[in-house]
Amino acid sequence: MDRIKQVKHTTLSQSVRTIRWIIILGIFTVVIGYQLLKELVFELDPMARIIFSIFLYACIGSLVTWIALTWVSNRIARGEQAEQAVSENEKYIASIAASSADAILSMDPDGKITSWNKGAELIFDYKEEEIVGQYISTLIPDNLLRGGELEKLAAEIHKNGYIRSFETERLAKNGRIIPVSVTQTALTDNEGNLRGYSKIVRDITEKKEAEKWMQESFGRIVKAEREIREMNSKLEAKVKKRTQSLSKAYDDLKRINEDLKSANEKLKEFDRMKTEFVSMVSHSLRAPITNINGAIELLGQIDMPCENPEQKELIEIMETESARLTKLIQSILSVSRLEGGKLKLKKERVDLRQISQKVIRNLETTVENHSFSFSCPDDLPLVTSDANYTEEVLVNLVDNAIKYSPGGGEVRVELAKKGDNVIVSVIDQGIGISDKEMGRIFESFHRVDGSDSGSIGGYGLGLYISKRLIEAQGGKIEVESALNQGSKFSFSLPISRDE
Ligand code: ADP
Repeated sequence: MDRIKQVKHTTLSQSVRTIRWIIILGIFTVVIGYQLLKELVFELDPMARIIFSIFLYACIGSLVTWIALTWVSNRIARGEQAEQAVSENEKYIASIAASSADAILSMDPDGKITSWNKGAELIFDYKEEEIVGQYISTLIPDNLLRGGELEKLAAEIHKNGYIRSFETERLAKNGRIIPVSVTQTALTDNEGNLRGYSKIVRDITEKKEAEKWMQESFGRIVKAEREIREMNSKLEAKVKKRTQSLSKAYDDLKRINEDLKSANEKLKEFDRMKTEFVSMVSHSLRAPITNINGAIELLGQIDMPCENPEQKELIEIMETESARLTKLIQSILSVSRLEGGKLKLKKERVDLRQISQKVIRNLETTVENHSFSFSCPDDLPLVTSDANYTEEVLVNLVDNAIKYSPGGGEVRVELAKKGDNVIVSVIDQGIGISDKEMGRIFESFHRVDGSDSGSIGGYGLGLYISKRLIEAQGGKIEVESALNQGSKFSFSLPISRDE
C-alpha cells in the first residue's frame, strides 16, 4: 500500500515539475512573441493592438494553461485507476486469506499475533479478538516449548528467511493437540528491517491418521509375511519328509513290483507247465480210453454164454462212464489247446441248418422225456466258421438244455439272420439260472452250487470252451434265463462274404 502511494506521489510531482516548465516556456514564448509582433505590427492602430494583445494573452495563455491542466488531470486519473486496481487486488488476496481452510496469521517481531483468519479460528477455536495481541507460545504445547521449539524455528528463519512445511504439533483452545504443518516467513521492509512474520498452519490430522493406518497396515503385512514364511518353511519341511517317505514307499513299491513280476513270470511258467502236463496226460489217456471204449463195444456185441440182466446193466454203466470220461478228456484237451494258443481254426462256409439238424438227430435218440423243435428261414445264409468247433458248441448247448431240464420238456433250436450274422438259439424249459450266477457260468470249472444242477453231472467246462470257440470265430455268446423258467443260450457267427 505504501509502495502504491509512493508511485502515485512520484507521478503527481513529476507532472507538476513538468508543468512548471511548460508554463514558463509558454509565458516566455508568449512574451517573446508579443514583443516581436509588437515591433512588427507597430503600425497597427490602438484598437487592433488591444484585440491582438487580448488574443495573444487571453487565448494562447488560457489554451496553454488548459493543455497543461488537462495533461496533469490525465496523469492523476491514471494514477487513481492504478490505485483502485491495486486495492481490489489486495481485497481479493485478503478474502482468499480470510476464507482459507488453513490458519493464516501474522506476528510482530516479538511473536505477538497481529492477524488471525477464519481458518485459524476453525483449527484453534480462538476468536480473532481473543487471540490477537497474545504471544504465539499460547498455541504451542508445553513439552515442545520446553524442548525449545520456538528457538529452533527462530534460528531456522534467521538463517533462511523462512521455514517450509515443518511438521509439528499445536495446542487448540480446548486443550486438543493438533498435528500441523507450519510454513513461516519473515517479513521485512525495503531497508531489510524485520517487520514481523507471516505464518500458514495446516491441520494434518487426517494425513497423520492415514500415515498411522498405513504404518499399522504395513506392520500387519510384515507380520503376515513373517507368518507365511514360517508356514512355508514348515510346509517345506513336511513336504521334504513326505517326499522322503514317498520315495521310500516308491522304492518299496518298485521292489514289490519286481517281486510280483518275477512271481508272475514263474506263475506263467507254472501255467505253461500245467497246460503241457494236462495236455500230455490227456493225450496219454486218450489212447487207453479209446481202447476201453472199443472193448466195451465189443463186449456188448459178444453173446455171453450165461448172459443175465445184471451183466447187461454193468456193461451199460461201463459204457456211460467211459463216454463221460471220453468227454472230460476231450474237454480238457480243448481247454489246453485254447489256453496254449494252439487252437487251429479251419475257416469254411458252413451251413448251420445242416449242423443243427445233425446235432438234434444224434441227441434225440439219447432222451426219452424231451421233445425237439427246430425253426429256420428258407433263405438262411451260410456262415464262415470251423464246422467241427461250431458243432461242438451246439452239442454243448443242446446237451445242457437236456441236462438242466430234468423234468423233460421241449428243447427248441432256432436259426435266424440278424444283420451280418446268423443267430443260433437253444431254448429249454428247465431249471433256469439265477441273476447272481448268470455272470459266472462262462468261467472255467464254474458250476452252480445249491441248485438242482448240483446233482447233474458235469465239470463246468462246456460253456467256457463254447465261449472261447465262438469268440475265436468272431461271434458272441449270450444267455437269457430266470430261475425255474428255462434258459435261452444264443450265439452268433458272421455270414459268409460270398453270401
Ligand atoms: P457243466 O454242464 O459240465 O457243469 P457247463 O460249462 O456247460 O458245465 O455249464 C456251467 C454251469 O452252467 C452248469 O453247471 C449249470 O449250472 C449252468 N447251466 C448251463 N446250461 C444251463 C441250462 N441250459 N440251464 C440251466 N443251467 C445251465
